[in-house]
Amino acid sequence: MRDYVIGLDLGGTNIRAAAITPEGKILNRVKIFTEVAQGRERVVANILKVIDAIKQGLRDFTLSAVGLGLPGIIFFDKGIVAQSPNLPDWIDFNVRERVKRGLDIPFYIDNDANLAAIGEGWIGAGKDFNSFCMLTLGTGVGGGIILNRDIWRGDYGMAGELGHITVYPDGHPCNCGNRGCLEQYASATGIVRMAREEFRVLGSEFKAKTEIYKIENITADSLYQLAKKGNKISLELFEKMGRVLGIGIADLVNILNVELFILGGGVADAWDYFIKFTMDEIKKRTYRITGEGVKVLKAKLGDDAGIFGAGYMAMGKTGKGIGKGKIV
Ligand SMILES: [Zn+2]
Repeated sequence: MRDYVIGLDLGGTNIRAAAITPEGKILNRVKIFTEVAQGRERVVANILKVIDAIKQGLRDFTLSAVGLGLPGIIFFDKGIVAQSPNLPDWIDFNVRERVKRGLDIPFYIDNDANLAAIGEGWIGAGKDFNSFCMLTLGTGVGGGIILNRDIWRGDYGMAGELGHITVYPDGHPCNCGNRGCLEQYASATGIVRMAREEFRVLGSEFKAKTEIYKIENITADSLYQLAKKGNKISLELFEKMGRVLGIGIADLVNILNVELFILGGGVADAWDYFIKFTMDEIKKRTYRITGEGVKVLKAKLGDDAGIFGAGYMAMGKTGKGIGKGKIV
């Protein structure tokens, strides 16, 4: 019988899962509602339900391990969620121990951005690179650092919080307690906030130029659509976002001298409107020899990066399949 693993992505709205072979082929997929409002036990029951649904559909295969990714502060070694923005009642929750009560195979959890980096390193945009950083530009900015084909977790398991690099010393306050974090300018939330600030400052001029008449109608997508039409206000916002991102990446280039940065998440779709400013800042703020070699690529796996990474982590930890916890 052939082995497979399950990679799960635990979001605030949906649990998405896929059965994955050691070669990176998806055998089947399941998606159900997370039901966060029903409490922690319901979410755990739903995780087990998803695993069971996949198993039922693959009776000729053997499930060897399960990996789960979710946003937040995760203690990978212990399987504990310290806190997660999507799951307010998961505080210092040992999800591995809890899930293992209903599951008799290895089960691992990690931060979703770390897993997205692992997924992209396995079969995505980073597969031919020795070291790289991944930034997911979504509601927030997540990060993952791959060094010598292995994820860098840091001494406390909290490395790769690239969204919280300071880009403006006195900038906008961030949920992490700092001010002026990259996340406050390069995430969907950050871009919308910057646009709303412009709305307040420019007033009727903003309304006339964008045809957005209510502040609450400013969304990341509405700004993206405006940029596509050549709207100056929107293009300037994406320029600012791109430059701030470039400042963050330049810092990483100077610290790590990695040659590749992979950008994922919904905001990366606005690529054409920010990337040249990002590259400009990287070149301006790094040594010529390191800066000129830097490549910035779009993520290849889209929403599936975390699922592939979760599956790959599970394979490595069991010693089955390839990798043994490293990307090879
Ligand atoms: Zn922060």
